[in-house]
Amino acid sequence: MEVFHKVFSNGNAQFKQELDLLGFSYKYEENIMGKIVIFEIAESHPQWHIIKEIASRHNVCISQSIVYSKKEIAEAEWLALACTGHFGYPQPEDDYVPYTYDTSDYCERCGIGGNQKTSFHFRAEPKAKRSHFFQLNWVFDEFFVKPEMKLIFQQNAVSGIFSNALDVVKSAEWFGSGAFRAVIVSRKVADIILEKEWRGIALKPIRLSDASQQVL
Ligand SMILES: [Zn+2]
Repeated sequence: MEVFHKVFSNGNAQFKQELDLLGFSYKYEENIMGKIVIFEIAESHPQWHIIKEIASRHNVCISQSIVYSKKEIAEAEWLALACTGHFGYPQPEDDYVPYTYDTSDYCERCGIGGNQKTSFHFRAEPKAKRSHFFQLNWVFDEFFVKPEMKLIFQQNAVSGIFSNALDVVKSAEWFGSGAFRAVIVSRKVADIILEKEWRGIALKPIRLSDASQQVL
């Protein structure tokens, strides 16, 4: 696992000057958008800590991403799914929540709760031809696949999607604002995805930290 930080600053001459003093190389663009410093740095980079300190002193924006190795993905017992792209919005856009969910336990403020009561409605067939998995904007705990893939999952007796057993589960915990649950798949499902080389999906290894998993 490697943590990367994407650093972006526009029009901050002092930040740029400090990077230059360090002898740190970065991408620089000067155009109608402004004077832009942009670069990505791994957390294992020897200068990460000083870069982090300078960036925070100058209120420079940093976003984080985690990249897992093939080995980590191949060895994990459980993995969380993440779509690599999103398309369109659930229909009807203005009130898809009461339309799609039984909202008796739903919190308007944080988006926790709600039980799906009907199919999701798309405006049109997804256009991304190269992707096998799709996700709507706003709905980060539902993944969509084509009927051919549903069939492959069924042929491989993947449970959880069409029954109540444990190959595909949602976390009990909710994440983010406009809250969503993590969608977690078993080693078996991950192997199907990897073997078929399905695109549009990222697999994130999960480590269980529940006390019942610990050997005393
Ligand atoms: Zn709430």
